[in-house]
Amino acid sequence: MTLPDLPIDVGRIERDLTELARLTEPDRPYTRQAFTKLDREARELVAGWMREAGLDVHIDAAGNTIGRRSGRTDGPVMALGSHTDTVQAGGRFDGIAGVVAAVEVARALEQAGVVTEHPLEIINFNCEEPSVTGMTPVGSRAMSGHLDLSKLETAHDPEGRTLAEAIDFLGGNHTRLTELIRKPGDVHGYLELHIEQGLVLERAGCPVGVVTHIAGPIRGTITVTGRADHAGATLMDERQDALCGAAEVILALERAAKDPSLKDTVATIGTAHISPGMVNIIPGRVDLQMEVRSIRQEEKERVRGLFEAACEAIARERGLRIDVQWLVDEPPVTVPQEMQALVQEAAKELGIQTVSLPSRAMHDASWMAMIAPVAMVFVPSKDGLSHTPDEWTDFADVAAGARVLGRALLKLDAKE
Ligand SMILES: [Zn+2]
Repeated sequence: MTLPDLPIDVGRIERDLTELARLTEPDRPYTRQAFTKLDREARELVAGWMREAGLDVHIDAAGNTIGRRSGRTDGPVMALGSHTDTVQAGGRFDGIAGVVAAVEVARALEQAGVVTEHPLEIINFNCEEPSVTGMTPVGSRAMSGHLDLSKLETAHDPEGRTLAEAIDFLGGNHTRLTELIRKPGDVHGYLELHIEQGLVLERAGCPVGVVTHIAGPIRGTITVTGRADHAGATLMDERQDALCGAAEVILALERAAKDPSLKDTVATIGTAHISPGMVNIIPGRVDLQMEVRSIRQEEKERVRGLFEAACEAIARERGLRIDVQWLVDEPPVTVPQEMQALVQEAAKELGIQTVSLPSRAMHDASWMAMIAPVAMVFVPSKDGLSHTPDEWTDFADVAAGARVLGRALLKLDAKE
């Protein structure tokens, strides 16, 4: 099979990434949280690039921006995408590199005069980062039919609007969210380029990674309840100190995730709230938020079991109440062999070296995997850093990834 060489242009990639980086809260680079004015501005900028690339642009009911290119047939679509929203004080590449690369592929197809069999959609997904508690990623979840519509009026965006209002602010329509759901068969395949956010590619000196699995998190809350009391008058053996219990709980989760029976699991307690929270009061209550991530569902279950048993023991020993509540459990994804092969072969034909590796972070591809075959192309992260202003990927590496992405897309087009 002879495939056309796509004229991917590193200069355009650099220009687009630089322009998007300018759209940040000025005193807190790089912050462009979902549903903010800056987010909307960035989405409009990308929509403009899509139009210039000859795409037919619309915003779907969930606020995803979609640029469509016709194919020879009107059957299932191929999709490329990622996200342009950021965490607070995040980076210039997480998600953004994937959208910029996807738009560049569309431009290169146009420039080379390539007409694909399948129609193509370039998707800038809405709200991938956890800006709306328990509901993200909003856009890809909605597209796969997994957005909990009962929470549209109770979940809130960073500006304090309801999720329903926030979706409409971006040009979506919260009353029509069921209409955008894609069913298996609607999408011929979904490809996403993303920065690795780890050290594997940099250490291997390799510009492109082929993703084998995508880890899925379980997230939950822990409430440790003891008794608030005077910090001077209450003797040590008379206390029910919730914070001391919480300290043991935190270490118990760390221990559970380090259990020798596990290969690929990480666990984190990322927030802690102490009440009443004064220096002369024994803490009466501590609220913690945790997550456990793995590419293996059975390992997540194992951590969960070990941790819950440890919490029961700590509660007994210290006379505390410990409530563990699991809120979301997102299943890990195994990238289909034949989809990994598309990326591998594309890179090989371009003379670009690859490494196969799991993704330890979750992506829009995790949700698209529920309705379509997916593959992911990773590009290196300098020093493995991400979700920080120091996040960096060389433009040449993004371009190499985009070349692989484009060629893998053409292979997907030719695939039965
Ligand atoms: Zn991302």
